[in-house]
Amino acid sequence: MSYVWTLAEQFEGKLRGVSFELLSRGKKLAEDLDTKLCSVLMGHNISDEALEELIQRGADEVYFVDDPRLANFQNETYSNVLSDLIKQYSPHVVLAAATTIGRVVMPFVAIQVDTGLTADCTQLEIHPETKLLLQTRPAIGGNIMATIKTPDHMPQMATVRPKSSRPFEKDPSRSGKIMRIALKDELVDTRAQVLEFRTDDAGFVNLEEADVVVAGGKGLKRADNVKIVDDLAKQLDGVVGASRQAIDRGWLSYPHQVGLSGKTISATLLVTAGISGSIQFLAGIKTCENIVAINADGDANIFGVSDFGIVGDLFEVLPLLTQKLAQAKK
Ligand SMILES: Cc1cc2nc3c(=O)[nH]c(=O)nc-3n(C[C@H](O)[C@H](O)[C@H](O)COP(=O)(O)OP(=O)(O)OC[C@H]3O[C@@H](n4cnc5c(N)ncnc54)[C@H](O)[C@@H]3O)c2cc1C
Repeated sequence: MSYVWTLAEQFEGKLRGVSFELLSRGKKLAEDLDTKLCSVLMGHNISDEALEELIQRGADEVYFVDDPRLANFQNETYSNVLSDLIKQYSPHVVLAAATTIGRVVMPFVAIQVDTGLTADCTQLEIHPETKLLLQTRPAIGGNIMATIKTPDHMPQMATVRPKSSRPFEKDPSRSGKIMRIALKDELVDTRAQVLEFRTDDAGFVNLEEADVVVAGGKGLKRADNVKIVDDLAKQLDGVVGASRQAIDRGWLSYPHQVGLSGKTISATLLVTAGISGSIQFLAGIKTCENIVAINADGDANIFGVSDFGIVGDLFEVLPLLTQKLAQAKK
């Protein structure tokens, strides 16, 4: 069977959102290959409801490798387990998210099972005749889109950025098979062990999960002017994002950067101010639902993707918006 597999992720027993995003990516591929979509999960103490949710959001089968030694991510062991399953079941396609886990595990697995890997794909399709996976990603500094194939080795493997696709809604009427698989002792690597987790909240900006983002660019002209972006973000209970030009000038720190070499965001509302809309910036905002662009130049690229455009001076428009929202709240 030439299955399509996705690598689900969990942290402290809870499934991560990327697990469901990957299923919506994988579904179309599985349909085009006329095959099943399976999710592989490694962990421990995962509830039946969580496993069912993978089925409800698109998986036909779930392979759950359940063991206390898999509760925390450990690269060598996770890679050994995934490679072992691949050798046993020979899937056609394996997808993972370009998260810390996906970015670390997948290159190991590619070596272990002797196949290729395309990282950070923006588009995945099945070629109608050859049935090969077409793996498209930005190349040469983001100036071209390259489509990569793996014709001579199986499985065909790719990582995709978190938040670059929307998960399916839960469908309680879906049914599927959940297989609990025992961990083989010989796959466990004991050289590194997780002793404890410490969170680093200093300077943390959760752009990827934010519902509202207000992003500023080079049009802000000076670091002091970030304040007017921040004021609007606060009024909208949102967070501040930025183009790379604003980051490179030191007006905001790197965790605020949106785009190809920054974060991919999926906000319900994105307001951009003084951002031209370069392809690298646009690469990070594809799944935003409503985009409001403010730019002095009516021909700016950003208006090509925005739902609402305001051609005007951001130094007038942003404070006015903030003021009107404050009045409306009162
Ligand atoms: C490999 C690579 C990776 C990259 N990764 C990223 C990335 O992740 N994210 C990213 O953003 N860029 C990235 N870039 C850079 C990208 O090419 C652009 O340089 C950048 O996005 C431009 O930022 P900007 O829109 O703020 O600046 P500009 O393109 O200079 O645009 C500024 C805009 O502000 C407007 N403006 C000026 N004054 C006002 C005013 N008073 N009121 C209203 N509007 C005004 C102007 O009309 C203009 O449209 C990358 C580049 C490379 C080569």
